[in-house]
Amino acid sequence: MIKITNIKRDFVLGSEIVNVLKGIDLTIDKGEYVALMGPSGSGKSTLMNLLGCLDTPTSGSYILNGKDVSKMHDDELAEIRNKEIGFVFQTFNLLPRTTALDNVALPMIYAGYSKSERNARATEVLDQVKLSDRMDHQPNQLSGGQRQRVAIARALVNKPSIILADEPTGNLDSKTSVEIMNLFAEIHNNGNTVILVTHEEDIAAYAKRVIRLRDGLIESDSTN
Ligand code: ADP
Ligand code: MG
Repeated sequence: MIKITNIKRDFVLGSEIVNVLKGIDLTIDKGEYVALMGPSGSGKSTLMNLLGCLDTPTSGSYILNGKDVSKMHDDELAEIRNKEIGFVFQTFNLLPRTTALDNVALPMIYAGYSKSERNARATEVLDQVKLSDRMDHQPNQLSGGQRQRVAIARALVNKPSIILADEPTGNLDSKTSVEIMNLFAEIHNNGNTVILVTHEEDIAAYAKRVIRLRDGLIESDSTN
């Protein structure tokens, strides 16, 4: 499903070039559950953004479901992102003053579904994340855990092949974190490929495979 070969990502910072990813090789099969760990600044988010087609590498190849996405243009990438990737962020990234239902349905607008199809599917995924009774609420009327559930429902709405989550429990207390991790476990058990970044060993323990980055390279790759 995912095959990355010798991926490098440089950033230009003033007159300096910073080599953030220094040559990553990685294969992830359909249905895997992977935790990505490593110190702050080791390149986890940079790698996730590449995996999620939010960014393209400086060099190296990225084959996603048989397509080389490393050299695609923005419009092609946007389409892949919308259809094949569900991205969950630490800070939820929901639209304010917009109901949970409309936040969840948004990716379906870009995918070209009618309003009735969007509402039916968004209702279904909000039910899956146990927020049927909060569909008309706006983000500021929801708790952190509920906001993250809305964000997860939005990530699932177009039935992507991969769910990516960058520190999804980073802004949540430990009890809420467990609830969110139980939800990711359920999503994985439904057959989805899940890749998540975490700092915490007990969160990483939910995954089947743990990859550790250090200074832009894979330091270890092991099975839980
Ligand atoms: P992590 O998620 O592991 O904490 P990041 O991938 O966010 O690390 O960042 C790795 C390094 O790359 C950091 O030193 C960061 O400052 C740098 N970096 C990330 N994005 C950019 C960018 N857009 N421009 C310049 N430097 C960046
Ligand atoms: Mg990060």
